[in-house]
Amino acid sequence: MKKYPKILSFILAIVCITAFSGCDILDAVTTVSSDTNTSTQNNTNSSTDGGFTIHMIDIGQGDSILLECNDEYMLIDAGELGQGGIVNDYLKDHNVTQLDYALITHPHSDHYGGMLDVLKNESVTTKNIVMTEAMNTTRTWEKLVDYIDQKNYNVIFPKTNDTIHLGDTTLTMYVPEIVKDLNNCSIVVRAEYDGMSAILTGDAESSEEKLMLDEGFNVQANVLKAGHHGSRTSTSKKFLTAVNPQIALISCGKNNDYGHPHKETVKKFNDINLPMYRTDELGSIVVTFNNGNMSLHTTNGTSEEIAIAQNNTTTAESKTSSNTSSKTSTSTKKATKKTAKYVGNKNSKVLHTKDCATVSKMSDANKVYFISYEDAIAQGYTPAKDCNPQ
Ligand SMILES: [Zn+2]
Ligand SMILES: [Zn+2]
Repeated sequence: MKKYPKILSFILAIVCITAFSGCDILDAVTTVSSDTNTSTQNNTNSSTDGGFTIHMIDIGQGDSILLECNDEYMLIDAGELGQGGIVNDYLKDHNVTQLDYALITHPHSDHYGGMLDVLKNESVTTKNIVMTEAMNTTRTWEKLVDYIDQKNYNVIFPKTNDTIHLGDTTLTMYVPEIVKDLNNCSIVVRAEYDGMSAILTGDAESSEEKLMLDEGFNVQANVLKAGHHGSRTSTSKKFLTAVNPQIALISCGKNNDYGHPHKETVKKFNDINLPMYRTDELGSIVVTFNNGNMSLHTTNGTSEEIAIAQNNTTTAESKTSSNTSSKTSTSTKKATKKTAKYVGNKNSKVLHTKDCATVSKMSDANKVYFISYEDAIAQGYTPAKDCNPQ
């Protein structure tokens, strides 16, 4: 502990500020964020074309997620030691020159290991570090903390329900009490943009999930980043029901030693027909919320549009209509690849014209063919914005 004098003084400062004035940390965060607004306005290299984007970077086994909104960026974790270079390459490829925030969910090396390389990257300026007070005793962790100390970053230790504004996106954090199992010390981030939401749970396991529910933290989200790389110790049924997601994302390495994602987790998703996207199969996964739509693409070429369920009720309705569709599908069984005029994506429930470019990128397993537009709509499909079938 002696090694972290500045970080300790930050903790003390935060305790003092909190004791006297409640939400001052938030004001500080907001100020930093609006300063950033000004300083990034002239960044013509930005890859932002509107909306809020989640980049789940394929760094192998571990987590590294870049959030982007209105030319502001937050990096959540940076993979294992030795994987920081992949993150730096990704930032370069996307013309990111400033991280407004670098957040370390918890002190496990598959999350913080690559962070030092990112902080040392001379092409990318990092302004604020967000981290938990949980510590590790490994040399790599100590090296990272020493570096953060030396460089005088603005270090933020958030509390539950603290918010950070990333452009028009509000990030609300859940920060548990420190416990022995560092996974359950994970900072959870729930991002909300224009009525759409995502929850990124680090390596939180079912005990932290239970705490979130018990404490009334709002977990409902269109997108769930499954905790702990899809481990069976995370994503309890209760939590999954409360989140009520439309898609699940899993960050894990090909043939990883842990068997992530565990088959129990995959089964839970299959049981509720929840589409799952994995970095070990798809490469980096990019999800964008924009104009009331969610779109997803991956480095291996998968591209989908997913109709947004605005709240639990809508999702329940769309589930009901998809159940009904399986019963009534006999009337459309005759539609084949040849005779179809429309192609729907059975996961996203979005309907395209047969010639739409999106259809060529859709995996055959997800294609559902229709001759009649009305049949497709009756079965719960939503017309795609790109080809606007009628
Ligand atoms: Zn992990
Ligand atoms: Zn962990």
